[in-house]
Amino acid sequence: MQDILIIGGGISGITTAVEAAETGYNVTLLEKNPYLGGRVIQMNRYFPKLCPPYCGMEINLKRIRTNNKIKHYTLTEVQNITGNEGNYEVTLKINPRKVTEKCTACGECSASCPIERKDDFNLGLNTTKAVYLPHELAFPYRFVVDTKACIKCGACVEACKYGAIDLNMQAETIKLKVGSIVMATGWQPYDASKIDNLGFGKYKDVITNMMMERLAAPNGPTQGKIIRPSDQKEPKKVAFVQCAGSRDENHLPYCSAVCCLASLKQITYVRENIPDSEAFMFYIDVRTPGKYEEFYTKVKGDERVHLIKGKVASIEQDGDSLTVEAEDILSGNKLRVVVDMVVLACGMQPTNGTLNNISRDQNGFISQVQGNGIYAAGVARKPADVSSSVQDATGCALKAIQSVVRG
Ligand SMILES: Cc1cc2nc3c(=O)[nH]c(=O)nc-3n(C[C@H](O)[C@H](O)[C@H](O)COP(=O)(O)OP(=O)(O)OC[C@H]3O[C@@H](n4cnc5c(N)ncnc54)[C@H](O)[C@@H]3O)c2cc1C
Repeated sequence: MQDILIIGGGISGITTAVEAAETGYNVTLLEKNPYLGGRVIQMNRYFPKLCPPYCGMEINLKRIRTNNKIKHYTLTEVQNITGNEGNYEVTLKINPRKVTEKCTACGECSASCPIERKDDFNLGLNTTKAVYLPHELAFPYRFVVDTKACIKCGACVEACKYGAIDLNMQAETIKLKVGSIVMATGWQPYDASKIDNLGFGKYKDVITNMMMERLAAPNGPTQGKIIRPSDQKEPKKVAFVQCAGSRDENHLPYCSAVCCLASLKQITYVRENIPDSEAFMFYIDVRTPGKYEEFYTKVKGDERVHLIKGKVASIEQDGDSLTVEAEDILSGNKLRVVVDMVVLACGMQPTNGTLNNISRDQNGFISQVQGNGIYAAGVARKPADVSSSVQDATGCALKAIQSVVRG
């Protein structure tokens, strides 16, 4: 029987992989990053329970580690796919990690490396060395060399007493035969610098919601202390600007489904971290359907949280403060709120797949059933929270199995 190929090792891809493998099917899971886990692993906490995402992820990673029906590859992308349902031939390119299985993650290589690079895991809020551990709970727990930043000076090779670094390691190409393919390629944050009036890139203390996740995370660039990038001071007043680029014909015309909840969650980070803080959330509509309504009511009940129905017209810096200008739709008044930091609630944009002939909707999300043994799961298909992505990915395992059985 043919294997199932899953492209994308976020929570959706991992879910499809473990569900299909635990049913007895062979699965290959591939991920372009040097670690599995996708965007979820960058979150500080999950709404609505506010637990750290590692709890659930650790269980899933254990299911991968202990199941010999799952092969997984990191730093890997699809180069080519030919064939049809039940009989695909896929060419994969495995990019060189330059660090072998001998790595014990002792960190001596990093300590000796002279090169600094922007830490993409922390959205550029800090730097790492050119040889680095992607994050403290990375799977696999192994260092990696950023081949674009590395100057091949060899200091890391000398420093590694386990002989685990091979700067001459080359990319490998392998071919697989698979019966069905699941695209779980997820999302990327909308580029906030495209939104001219909101000051991202111009003012240091205008940050995005993903940056806020990393600022609040205990394993983030500030060890979980929420401070302003400009002067490392605690912000006492923080504005959250909803639909930053979303529901806007000039940017993303759709709603990303999770940004209101993400901001309400991040308001709790600010309020817990800085007890005398105040939060202002500017919104078009607050969308917290079903079970999430209770979470919204709880956050809104805090008297230092102000929810303002109105789209933000502009953000301007004045000294070391930021002035947010908006119309309060309910009162009809023009508002100018002076704050210390602004968080833009940027939406989720589908990642560009490398595959041709994949049908997508008008917003770039992949259609779930392509009619040829190729399926889409999670946010690759539509904006969604984690629990909906997991349900979707579980259903997708069944679709992928049916294709393999038919083939
Ligand atoms: C600010 C913010 C906060 C959020 N907080 C929460 C929360 O608290 N609770 C909640 O339920 N939801 C939250 N979400 C939503 C949550 O992030 C998504 O539901 C979740 O990430 C969906 O997982 P996924 O696996 O579908 O996609 P992703 O997490 O994007 O994973 C996709 C994976 O595929 C990989 N990939 C992409 N293209 C390729 C390729 N061509 N080849 C190989 N690999 C590829 C990517 O590197 C990535 O690892 C939040 C979203 C935002 C924007």
